[in-house]
Amino acid sequence: MINYPIEQIRADFPILGETVRNKPLVYLDNAASCQKPQAVIDSIVHTYSHEYANIHRGVHTLSVKATDRFEAAREKVRGFINAGNAKEIIFVRGATEAINLIAQSYGKSQLCAGDEIVISAMEHHANIVPWQMLCQQIGSVLKVAPMNQKGELIFEEFENLLGEKTKLVAIAHMSNALGTINPVEKIIAAAHAKNIPVLLDGAQAIPHMPVDVQALDCDFYVFSGHKLYGPSGTGVLYGKQALLEAMPPYQGGGDMIRTVTFEKTTYAGLPHKFEAGTPAIAEIIGLGAAIDYVTAIGMDAIAAYEAELLAYATEHAEQIKGMNIVGQAAEKGGILSFTLDHIHPHDIGTMLDSVGVAVRAGHHCAMPVMDFYGVPATARASFAMYNTREEIDILMQGIKSLIEVFG
Ligand code: PLP
Repeated sequence: MINYPIEQIRADFPILGETVRNKPLVYLDNAASCQKPQAVIDSIVHTYSHEYANIHRGVHTLSVKATDRFEAAREKVRGFINAGNAKEIIFVRGATEAINLIAQSYGKSQLCAGDEIVISAMEHHANIVPWQMLCQQIGSVLKVAPMNQKGELIFEEFENLLGEKTKLVAIAHMSNALGTINPVEKIIAAAHAKNIPVLLDGAQAIPHMPVDVQALDCDFYVFSGHKLYGPSGTGVLYGKQALLEAMPPYQGGGDMIRTVTFEKTTYAGLPHKFEAGTPAIAEIIGLGAAIDYVTAIGMDAIAAYEAELLAYATEHAEQIKGMNIVGQAAEKGGILSFTLDHIHPHDIGTMLDSVGVAVRAGHHCAMPVMDFYGVPATARASFAMYNTREEIDILMQGIKSLIEVFG
């Protein structure tokens, strides 16, 4: 194993000391949401205890303090994904809201009937449904790039879909149902060669690997704070400044305006143009704390540690007769989706819970992926920076017992 401060990290997450059904909690549902380090919890408590007021509107001391900390969080996000400018960081409630914003603002203003949006076969519903809604509204067309049995994008077929009418590529950086890491550099190069902008859904990738939006040269990048060890109700939309400038506001209300009369409203500049209403102030500041936390450990170190965990889990899973791994891409993040012969995934989830192991069972908001593999659901163990080999041993032991009794 690489040198990695796992004991210290685990100690930083109070919930990891909990027991479930009288067993130590083994939390392997990180793709759904990650647990929070004490630093994030403390940040929220501190804000509400000492520095809370509404932002951007007050001249009083507390409002100025809250505004400064909120804007400092924006700067932390900017640095974390290496955006060129803090104006390019829009705070939203999560990846879902970010994609809906792009669909309704960019999509409605820049696309016409017959224009095409290319997604992939492994998308989360959050990167399917907003485009279907747009297609219904304006008559644009959704095209789906297929994947192979391993759960890898078939790149040539993706490339063949890029044509005169393609106005946007929207694709997962990493799949939540399969763990596949898409070849985003190649995808962006192919799309840009035809002047097509690219939106990366980074909801799964962001906690697992370093992301540099300038190096990637993606046009939009979205993610959710709660999957990055931050509070729920926080999310980020990165967009290139020129694209964001050209887009109309998504919602109207306070904070996004410059002047309002009953005859005419003028809008604020970036990023406030897209931030109508009071945001999740303490939570966004808490997201900044989460970014400080993972940055101190290092995203490279986290990625290397999790790669070892995945390799260890995969090696053990492959040895269990009756256990089928769903999604075997060569480039994969810390997700192990699986089925067991003769045992329904929901029963797997319930029975693993009885030994303290939290996995998810279901379609993982990716029903087309389930259809592709001809299964109603899978069980999914998903790893985070605080998981250990010992926890994977407990998972595998639980699965073996299940197979023995019910398989
Ligand atoms: N995209 C992917 C790949 C996801 O895994 C998820 C959540 O699981 C989302 C989008 C939506 O994220 P949220 O529900 O936080 O908006």
